[in-house]
Amino acid sequence: MASFDIRVIGDPVLRQRAQEIEEIDGSLARLVDDMLNTMYEAPGIGLAAPQVGVNRRLFVWDIGDGPSAMVNPEIVESDGEWSFEEGCLSVPGLSWEILRPKQIHIVGRDLDGNEISYEADELEARMFQHEMDHLDGTLLIERLDADTRKAALQTISDLRIGQKHRPSGGLSLP
Ligand code: ZN
Repeated sequence: MASFDIRVIGDPVLRQRAQEIEEIDGSLARLVDDMLNTMYEAPGIGLAAPQVGVNRRLFVWDIGDGPSAMVNPEIVESDGEWSFEEGCLSVPGLSWEILRPKQIHIVGRDLDGNEISYEADELEARMFQHEMDHLDGTLLIERLDADTRKAALQTISDLRIGQKHRPSGGLSLP
């Protein structure tokens, strides 16, 4: 299994609406394996295809029940409100309290093309909504109120997250 570099904020692929997947085949299964590998290495509990530069409606997750993948997901119902400290592998090292629906019903397809459906609550529902946002080109900072978002963007800029120039680690020669 290979793993990908995770795209970070500033990469245009994270701001595009990902496209529907028309054919579920072996190449998709290999992509899912590599995405899961990338997610476990990070580590994270969910990863959407745009985060590895693939503009398709697909995400993987594991919140403790083993690895899963969903193709062409759709949230068909949501209910309640729940505030939770949320982070994102594409905005590394930062997190914010974000209010979202507490429960959702999500449907999609598995890697055999079968319909799958989950009634999710709290953390699982949060993860699904976060990954769905990625497929619609939305990053978590867009879920913040205007003042918090402004401060968040400043922090991201100060930390140079997503910019080409990164502090060089490791050896420094005199
Ligand atoms: Zn994310």
